[in-house]
Amino acid sequence: MTDKDPARFHPETLAVAFGYDPASALGSVKAPIYMTSTFVYPSAQYAKDVHEAYFDGTGPLVGESNHIYSRLGHPGLDILEARLAAIDGMEAGAAFSSGMAAHSSIALAWLTPGDSVLHGRPIYGGVDMLYNAIMPQFGTHASVYQDGTDEDGVRAAARAAMAQGPLKLIIAETPANPTAAIVDLALMVRIADEVGELQGHRPLVVVDNTLLGPFAQRPVDFGVDLILTSLTKYCGGHSDLLAGGITGRKELIDRLLMLRTTWGNHLDPYTSWLVLRSLESVHVRTERAMANARGVAEFLQSHPKVAGVTYLGFLPEGSRARAVYDRQCRAAGSTFSFHLHGGEAEAFRMLDRLRLFKLAVSLGGSETLICHSASTTHYALSPQQRMEGGITDGTMRLSVGLEHVDDLIADLAQALEAV
Ligand SMILES: *Cc1c(COP(=O)(O)O)cnc(C)c1O
Repeated sequence: MTDKDPARFHPETLAVAFGYDPASALGSVKAPIYMTSTFVYPSAQYAKDVHEAYFDGTGPLVGESNHIYSRLGHPGLDILEARLAAIDGMEAGAAFSSGMAAHSSIALAWLTPGDSVLHGRPIYGGVDMLYNAIMPQFGTHASVYQDGTDEDGVRAAARAAMAQGPLKLIIAETPANPTAAIVDLALMVRIADEVGELQGHRPLVVVDNTLLGPFAQRPVDFGVDLILTSLTKYCGGHSDLLAGGITGRKELIDRLLMLRTTWGNHLDPYTSWLVLRSLESVHVRTERAMANARGVAEFLQSHPKVAGVTYLGFLPEGSRARAVYDRQCRAAGSTFSFHLHGGEAEAFRMLDRLRLFKLAVSLGGSETLICHSASTTHYALSPQQRMEGGITDGTMRLSVGLEHVDDLIADLAQALEAV
């Protein structure tokens, strides 16, 4: 695509071609993989100009795509980052070696000793660990809001965070894993504005958009500052890579890119290329997976051995979560939980009878995955914490893939007979 203005196209179109011009690579329809660690210059002065442009943003080569060394940036990253930003509707993007590398980079870029951060719970386990076990070693504080749709509750949690130190980051994972708890992004932005008035500097609102992905939920429409996506999941989509992306205003992304040069947690050329390839089809893959998930959720909902199904499409009419879901989400996703009558023994009997479903953590791949939450993804939590998060000993998380829905339902039906 040679058009440089992403606003002229839909995200689906941008996902196929934005950020790459075949004329830059001998007419190759697909972007090449630049497997190199370093880049050659035609002269000593040129090398100096490249460094000046990179580090000071001045001199004759500003705006040219010249590279120095692949840790500082490489052509595959340029294309991928332009495309991620275009899809999300943001100004700029940065790609990292995993979703957690992206989360850690935000923490290290914006928190200094004494600062505080506000986040919801449940939240991805690695993020919980980052803000509650690791960053506190550098003197930061974490406060939690329990219900991301409850305006008074979130406001009170923000005041509690400010009492511990300057509030710099508000983190929202929505829907949250594995309970599908919804966080109201417009509310988060409102609270950030209020906090900004009170403390004289506004915290950044960061949304982890991994669960629904860039097409089914568009955080840019709600005014958030940074959108983070574990590209390992739906965007990668084939359970064969790890990567993370962040998009946002150029000045915020520039800060991350400059720090990434030192941290060295950039995404490598080959994986950048794999993610670019996967981005082309993420919207059609997720549409099919979401249609399959609805079929599987409806089957489970009506099954006598199933106590309940935590699926966004079943949020009760009239509830606060439903109102936010209707405003904020375009689809119900394809990762959800269900709860068996009974406990671990019943769950394990069922899991060991499955023939098509694969027993594994992770989500968003082409194949259907299932895991027993209490003994795997939420193993490290206390039983009390699990109950608070709605996880019983009979809870299982499903990531529904691209197989034929009838085969998925048939496999579940025969396995449920073992319960
Ligand atoms: C998997 C996941 C992450 C972490 O991503 P990695 O690529 O595994 O490091 C962060 N947030 C959410 C919601 C996830 O599902």
